[in-house]
This record gives sequence, structure tokens and C-alpha cells, in this order.
Amino acid sequence: MDLRSRLAQLAKLKATGPVISVYLNTRWTDEHQRERVRIFLKTELKRARDAGRADPDDLAWIEASGRSLIEQTEWPDASGVALFACRAAGLREAFPVRVAFEDTFVVNDRPYLVPLASVAADAPPSLVVFIDGTSARLIPLDVTGPGDELVLEAQVEGRHSSGGWAALAQSRYQRHIETHREQHFAAVAAAVTGWSDHRDAERIVLAGEPRMVAALREHVPDRVARRVVGAVAGTRYEPASALVERAAALLGQADRVADESAVERAITEAAKGGHAVDGLDRTLDAVNRGAVRHLFLLRDFREVGRACEGCGALQRGLGGACAYCRRPTRPVPLDEELVDRVIASGGTVTRLARHAALAQRGGILAVLRYAA
Ligand SMILES: [Zn+2]
Repeated sequence: MDLRSRLAQLAKLKATGPVISVYLNTRWTDEHQRERVRIFLKTELKRARDAGRADPDDLAWIEASGRSLIEQTEWPDASGVALFACRAAGLREAFPVRVAFEDTFVVNDRPYLVPLASVAADAPPSLVVFIDGTSARLIPLDVTGPGDELVLEAQVEGRHSSGGWAALAQSRYQRHIETHREQHFAAVAAAVTGWSDHRDAERIVLAGEPRMVAALREHVPDRVARRVVGAVAGTRYEPASALVERAAALLGQADRVADESAVERAITEAAKGGHAVDGLDRTLDAVNRGAVRHLFLLRDFREVGRACEGCGALQRGLGGACAYCRRPTRPVPLDEELVDRVIASGGTVTRLARHAALAQRGGILAVLRYAA
């Protein structure tokens, strides 16, 4: 099952006991990161045990999972891992992803899904393509990390038999090589195009010497060229993880740029009264109607509101009867509740660290399934 469908199920989970949600940054790029995560977990586990709010078996599972992550016996290439445990609901699940999380430890009556939901929408399928004069490597990436690599190798004849020939033979040989190279680049370009179309790779990062990368670029069609977000250095014998790590910065940057422009488009759409609404009130109304296709919110958006015990409608304010059905309400964190409702109805969520125009609109904005 893909991450988005699983998230929708988790958002609907009715737990009868406390749920532990843990997010860890497992990008072990410096020596201290491992130690930071170890101390973070130790502190949070102790706090949870002292408070007695979580199931001891669940805490033990989190502790063991954390240990195998830190020792890298599991998912050594993941940059972030989310863990969910609730014995009462039969839930013990880990999600390794290729994007780092902020270390987070939450015990609540339901899974805390906001960071994972944001990653699911923000790390689209991508492709890293290494190329040199006679070979290519295609490494697909989804939200969980690199998939199986495809290696393409061209047979270039006569490559090592050019010694002592006449000038004419030499130039013929050169032309021969050139022709084959063109065929090689054209064949790799065709493979990249096929994979990119078939796997819906939204972004492509090229790797290799600049002149090789340039030659490949000349051979791909425009629709594929538009998906190329940049190029990184690379050599034929490097592990895929090294190429992917170099590509990650470019992909992250491309995600941020895409988010920025998607927010701009949604703001314009909301201003026209089209397929988007901005601000908390209109977003609440849209979420209550199940009309949200994509929710944008600032990372620091926090708002306490209430949910109706009867009809479930979310609304502002701290107490009082439901504005729709007059039954009692209970206080809820609206930021989390809105995200859960949107992913439960099959929508997606993006959190942004900052965005001036979004901040001016209350830090929240929704793209709708149909016009408002
Ligand atoms: Zn109600």
C-alpha cells in the first residue's frame, strides 16, 4: 500500500489506548547526530515511563526500534523515520523516508501524522541519472528512498585498439566512436524518457561530468528536460546512495520552489473565488464539507478550537454548543485536527517553514476539489 493510502487509514484510526508517535532525524551526516538522537529518545522514554501514560510494551518497542536505527541495522539509508505504536489498536509501524524529520515524541489518543503527511506530499517520485561516455545508471527515488537501479552499458568497439594507425584510420575511428556516442546518448535519453513517463518521475537530477550531462540534455525531449532540476558530480563506481545524497539538496530546493509557486497560485485562485479558500474560517468550512484537495499551512500555525461530539464539525472558540447541531463540543488542536481530516478524506498536506503572503492570510490555505 502506498504511503498516502496508509496515512488516510491512520488518520481514521479509533484507538482505545494511548498512541505513541515518534519522529527521528536519522541523517547520520555528522558524528554527533547519532548521539543527539540517542539522548533524545532516552529522555523522552524516561519522561513517558514516569508519566505512566503510554503502554510499557509500546515504549519497549519504540526503544528497541530506536536502538536498531541508531546502530543502523535497519534502514541505514533513511534520512528520517516515523514510528507509531499502540498495543490496544494493534499498531506497531515504522515509516523510513528519504527526508529528515525534526525529532518529535508525542503520546496522545491518536497518531500524530502532521510531519509524515507533509513528507508524503512533498517528496514526489524522482529519478537520479548518472551518465558517462559508455554507460548510464538510472536510480528511481520515491518517498521511502532509492529503488532498484537500472544500469545501461553501451558496447563501443575498438576502444582499446587504436595504437599505431595511420591518420586516416585514426580519424575514421574517431568518427566511429562519435557515432556510437551519439547512439549511446540517444539510447540513454530514450530510457530516461520511458522511465520518467512510466514512473511519473516529477523531478530528475543528472550526475556525471558536465560535458556528459550536457550531451544527455541535448537528447531528451522538452517535457523531460523541464523536469531536470539540476546536475551534480558523480562517478561510475560510486554507490547509488552517494549520488542520491548529492541529489537530495537539489530535490529539496525544487520542492521548496514548487511549494512557493503552488501557494501563490492558490492565493490568486482564492482571491478570484475559485478553487481555493484562505484563512482559518473558510478553511474550517471547507474541511467540514470534505472539500479540501490540498491543505497548505505554515509550520508554526497553531490554533485551539473545538470539535462537535455529535456531527464532528470543527469550529473556532473554546466552548459552547455546536453551531450546526447544538450538541456539546470538546476542545481540540485545530492544526492537527485539520490535517487529519484532510488526509482521511484522501487529500494532501504541505507545511511551509515560512511564506509572507500565506502568513498574511492567517497561515492557512486550502485548494478545493471544486469551486467555492
Ligand atoms: Zn455538531
